[in-house]
Amino acid sequence: ALPDARGHLLFDDVQFAYGNGRVILPDFTLDMPAGQTIALVGTTGAGKSTLAKLVSRFYDPTRGSVQLDGVDLRELSSSDLRRAIVMVTQEAYLFSGTVADNIALGKPDATLDEIQAAARAVGADGFIRALPDGYDTDVNKRGGRVSAGQRQLISFARAFLADPAVLILDEATASLDIPSERQIQEALQTLLADRTAIIIAHRLSTVAIADRVLVMEHGRIIEDDAPDAL
Ligand code: ATP
Ligand code: MG
Repeated sequence: ALPDARGHLLFDDVQFAYGNGRVILPDFTLDMPAGQTIALVGTTGAGKSTLAKLVSRFYDPTRGSVQLDGVDLRELSSSDLRRAIVMVTQEAYLFSGTVADNIALGKPDATLDEIQAAARAVGADGFIRALPDGYDTDVNKRGGRVSAGQRQLISFARAFLADPAVLILDEATASLDIPSERQIQEALQTLLADRTAIIIAHRLSTVAIADRVLVMEHGRIIEDDAPDAL
């Protein structure tokens, strides 16, 4: 068990092919110290989402291993894995139920105080309180409609509350209005503090807050640098 995973993530000589056999990652090695934020950029089809799927164990490597704090992810129970590694997808899905339910998804026993603290941390508390029934607003009911930026903030609050050692984020490509874009950046910085993170980044402002930027092409890293060196 890894109840207190620190978040050292290692791709060790990883090879990966989907079912059709075409090799997507020929030989991928990446060592991320605990707490580091990597922005992953690169052309379409480079293998960025594939990497994310290997960390969340949607797929396993065909050779080599992905390790958290020295332990092969395949050796972790599914509950330890879910606790240690959280993936936030582009779609930032909301499920039917209240806003509070949606934030508590990764921690069903969370109290309302904890849910509100998570929302406050990512700057979502204000708009949630302005909804017709506040935290009890049903996200699928009329009046409970939330914008793309607000959905994103709710999914950030969910991840903040779950407090994983490792966060994988596939950044939304959908355009947001300027204030919410800035709000998302601030929320991201709060969310990234004290955890290991891989962000598939589409915005320059996100790349700028990373510790390290990887440029991928055809399943390989072609650049690995600090953001200001690029
Ligand atoms: P994008 O920027 O467009 O999201 P990406 O870098 O995330 O691209 P991936 O989605 O990881 O790229 O895809 C890498 C390669 O794997 C592509 O050639 C893609 O066609 C292929 N691929 C992705 N998913 C599958 C799948 N389920 N089965 C077979 N091949 C796949
Ligand atoms: Mg992708």
